[in-house]
Order: sequence, then C-alpha cells, then structure tokens
Amino acid sequence: MIKITFPDGAVREYAPGTSALDIAKSISEGLARKIIAANVNGQVWDATRPITTDASLKLLTWDDADGKNTFWHSSAHLMAEAVESLFPGVKFWVGPAVEKGFYYDMDLGDRQITEEDLRKLEVKMNELAKQNNSYIRKEISKDDAIQYFADKKDEYKLDLLTNLKDGEITFYSQGAFTDLCRGPHIPGTGIIKAIKLTNIAGAYWKGDEKNKMLTRLYGVTFPSQKELDEYLQMLEEAKKRDHRKLGRELSIYTMDDDVGPGLIMWLPNGTIIIEELEKLAKETESAAGYKRVVTPHIAKESMYLTSGHLPYYADSMYPPMELDGEKYYLKSMNCPHHHKIFAAEPKSYRDLPYRIAEYGTVYRYEQSGELFGLMRVRALHMNDAHIYCTKAQFSDEFRAVNDMYQKYFKIFGIDKYVMRLSLHSPDKLGKKYVNEPELWKETEEMVRQVLIESNIPYVEVQDEAAFYGPKIDVQIYSVIGREFTLATNQVDFSQGRSFKLEYITPDNSTETPLIIHRAPLGTHERFIGFLLEHYAGKLPVWLAPQQVKVLPISDKFLPYAQTILQSLKNADIRAEVDDRNEKIGKKIRDTELTKVPYMLVVGEKEMNEGTVAVRRQGKGDAGVKSIEDFIAEIKTEITQRIG
Ligand SMILES: [Zn+2]
Ligand SMILES: [Zn+2]
Repeated sequence: MIKITFPDGAVREYAPGTSALDIAKSISEGLARKIIAANVNGQVWDATRPITTDASLKLLTWDDADGKNTFWHSSAHLMAEAVESLFPGVKFWVGPAVEKGFYYDMDLGDRQITEEDLRKLEVKMNELAKQNNSYIRKEISKDDAIQYFADKKDEYKLDLLTNLKDGEITFYSQGAFTDLCRGPHIPGTGIIKAIKLTNIAGAYWKGDEKNKMLTRLYGVTFPSQKELDEYLQMLEEAKKRDHRKLGRELSIYTMDDDVGPGLIMWLPNGTIIIEELEKLAKETESAAGYKRVVTPHIAKESMYLTSGHLPYYADSMYPPMELDGEKYYLKSMNCPHHHKIFAAEPKSYRDLPYRIAEYGTVYRYEQSGELFGLMRVRALHMNDAHIYCTKAQFSDEFRAVNDMYQKYFKIFGIDKYVMRLSLHSPDKLGKKYVNEPELWKETEEMVRQVLIESNIPYVEVQDEAAFYGPKIDVQIYSVIGREFTLATNQVDFSQGRSFKLEYITPDNSTETPLIIHRAPLGTHERFIGFLLEHYAGKLPVWLAPQQVKVLPISDKFLPYAQTILQSLKNADIRAEVDDRNEKIGKKIRDTELTKVPYMLVVGEKEMNEGTVAVRRQGKGDAGVKSIEDFIAEIKTEITQRIG
C-alpha cells in the first residue's frame, strides 16, 4: 500500500497505481466530477495518472489557479482538434493557458481565418466536448515521436522535439487529436461546458519577426454557461469603462506625437484630479509624521552606479545626456535622491524613524509595444516615500504603512485586495539576493506577522523578492473585478549600506538604518486609470473636476444662476453655469454625459423663493433646497470624501 497525505495532514492508504481521480471517487462522486487535476508532491499532474509511491496530494478544482490553467490548456487541445477537423493539414506550434483563457499558434498555410470560422469552430468544439473524450497520456521514444510528426510534415513540432530527450517525451491524445505535450490535462473533454473563441491574431514563430507569421487563435472556456455569460458581461462593462475612452470623453488627458509616446499631458480636468489626490496624500502623510522633500529629475551616472541601477537596469532608463564630460540620466526612481537627503545631515537614533515623501516624477523606458493608455507610460508621478528606521522600529513602521493602504482603500471603496509577499530563496543568497541570511529571515518574519495581525489577505511567493529585501505587491480589484497591480511596498537592507547611510546609536556607535519604500497610491497615471474604470467615470464629488452645474431654465434666469454660481465659488466649490440658449431637457442630458455629480436647475419658482432644484447625476431629482442647505450638504460630502 502507498501512503497519501492530504492538505489537512490526514494520511490514508491506497493500492499502488491509484489515481487522484480514484481517490476523489472514494470520497464522493460529486467531488470526483469537480476534479480537474491534482498536485502530487508539489507538481501538477493529470488526475488520472497512477500514483505509485507515497505522496502528498491536493485535489485541484476550478477554484485553484492550477486547476484553471489545466482546464484552459486542455481547451487549447480541444480547439486544435476542432481546427484540424475543419482545416486538415494545419500545423501546430504551442498552445498555452494565459491569464484568462488560452491560445494556440498554428500555420494554416495560405488560409485566412475569419470571424465566421471562429463560430464554426465553437460549434465543432462543443460537439467534441459532448463526446467526453479522455485525455490519454502516453510516454513515447524520441524516434517514434519524430516519426509521427515527420509523417504529419509538422516542422514546428519537430523543432520542439530537437530540445527533448528520450524518457521525457509524452504524447496526449483526446478523440482524433494527438499532441506532443508534457501535460497535465483534465480527465475528459466533457467538463468543458461553455466555449468562446475571442480573437484572431498574428504571431511570429518564436516571437522573432524574421520568422514566419503564424495564426494565433484565442479562446476562453468555463465549466458552466453561467460563468461564460458573466465573463462576457464583464467584458462588455469593461469596454464601457475603458480608461482611454473615458479619458477622452471627460477631457482628462492627452498625448501627442511631437511630445513622444507614453508621455501623458494632463488636461485641466485631469489636473484637478491630480491635485485632489495629492492633497489627500499630503494630509495623510503629514498626519503620519512624514516630511516633504523636492528633488531634481536628473542625476549623474555615479549615483546610479552606487544604487546599482546601472548597469543592471540601463535598459529601462532613458539613454544618458552628456554635459561637461559627465553623463546625466533622467531618474527612474526617487530612492537614490532621497538617500542623499538622509545623508545630507548627520543623524542620531533620535531622528529615526525619518520619513520623507515626494510626489516624484520618474522616467522609464518602456518598449513602445508595451505602452498602454495611462497604465504603461514613460513618465510617472509617484506617490513615493522612504522611511529610515531601526530594526526595533521596523514592525510599527511597516504596520503604519499598511494602515495607510487600508485607509485609502476605504476612501476609494476598494473592497477586494491582496498583498503578494515575495520572499527570497536561501540557495540564491549572494547571487540573486543580497547575502544576509539572518536579516532575510528576520524581516520576512516581521512582515508576515504584521500582515497576519492586521488581518490583511495575503499570499506568499517564494523566490520573487527584490535583490535587497522582501517585497509586497499590492493587487487591487475594481468593482467589476478587474485586477490592477497598484504599488509595491519594499523592505530594503542593502541600499542603506551602498549609500553609506548611518545614524549614531545611544551607545555612540554607528549603524545602518533599514529602509521601507512605499507608494500606496502608486502613480497618478496608473491610479487615475484605475479610478476611471472603477467609478465608470462617475468620480465622487471631492474628485470630480466639475462638482456642480447650474442650469437656468431660460435666459431670463441667467442673472439668478450667476448669483448661485458666485455663492458656490465663494464656498470653494467647482461650478459652472450652462448659459447656452438650449431647452432645459437638453442641458440636463448633456450634463449627465459629462458626469458632473450635481445639477442645480433654476427657474421662476426657485428665483422667487431663493432656492435651487437639485438633481444628482444618474439618480435624478433630489428635491428643492435653499442654496445655503445645498452648500452645507455638498461641503460635508467633499471634506469627508464620501462616495
Ligand atoms: Zn497539453
Ligand atoms: Zn524607493
């Protein structure tokens, strides 16, 4: 008998050769139907593959990331089967799972695939899925594998085979289709219940533009029609909320060829949002004991050699400019400048924690193909700060940073977020990670404790830390469930030493401070992109570029509208009068489109009574009020940053 250890620590005995699926069946038929794959001793396996030795086992379902990956990759095989049955002679390259779904690269010869073909392929895939064909794994010798694909005249698979050795080659077959693949796959095609082929694209073989252009078909599949429907609805909603579309419609930002790709210019409306965000950050940071600093946009090469950005990150920096025999670089990070500020005056333990903040502008050379709206740009305004502290102060400082993140999440109605704690790998000390085994252990444990105590949802990832310390990536989700990596929060015990930063301890010796890098609001570019999508452009009153629009019913009430406008302006409310000679219905509709939160309609009755008829964007009539009452209410909403 073999011993199988389950995630809860339970150990049970089974006959050798039992599969994960057999084990699931022995627990319940219902469970067995949900099994997609299995994690056996840390490796993802076919649920049907026989287990022959003692092993740890986790059954994987749709709810596991590895389960989804296996489901989608297996769907790529199903799509390939459908393609081959409709277009015989097709040759395949690779078909991996991606973040949401899968693709397969293929050579269709002279054939151009159309949207109509995609619909036909979906029908075929559904038909093949209903046959519930098993995915059958077969180990095969290299000679036999080469023979098989030589017969098929598939030079792409033959190319893949050149890098493989005997003993590590497997074929998988389902229905009439056989593929070279290391797996794993789902037990059978029957659990693929809903199929959507989403896109046709071109992709150079091996990503090299000198090679032939292959056809890439994208698709996504689900274990139920309901999940596919929800996904398609989310896509539809995401299209409406696209920050590039809203950015144009609401006059938030622009780009220009003469300025350069990825360089954002903020229009007056976008600038108001920026100023409100900075006001929030400054208030919050000032209350948390940060001091503000200002640093230049460039620095000499020598500083980036000290920081280690050069030569390692030279590719992501703008090329240098030469001046008086020196090379200057646009800064790609604010950290080195801040370290120099720390070092500018002698520090004692009494000066620590030393917290300095700046909305710093940094420049990164993103590949032009990577640029995307506000999400991937070349000049960024970062909500940056650095905290220099002693080891004893670290936990409290780190906790305060996390509290700040959570305060912001509450203000912006971000209910779902995950912190991804990236740890080092002990066998790579001195290579990928600075060689400080004790400090790594200590700080990782401190960070972990703070996350647990603050009840913050987090996941741990091995071997993804920064060179100089553990790193926490913050992933947030918009109201429609789309994921954004907002910011990184880092612990650093290396840069302090590189920059020879010191403070005097109580017993008069010198010590290097720990550094926390943090940027809870990320960059203006990415965060405003996120907010536009999150709020579908309907920004809360405190952030809205225009907060109130006064709409006179006719020209006769224009003077009254102007006195209302003056009262609003006196109260520091961003307002305008719609003085066009248009019907009130049109004025309301147009204002709705610009997503101004409040409209004040004024006519005969309002003028005589000194009131305004209030309308809330998207919600309609909100009653008649005196202008004083309206101002008092909106001021509360603004100062408390409600909504
Ligand atoms: Zn496969
Ligand atoms: Zn930094």
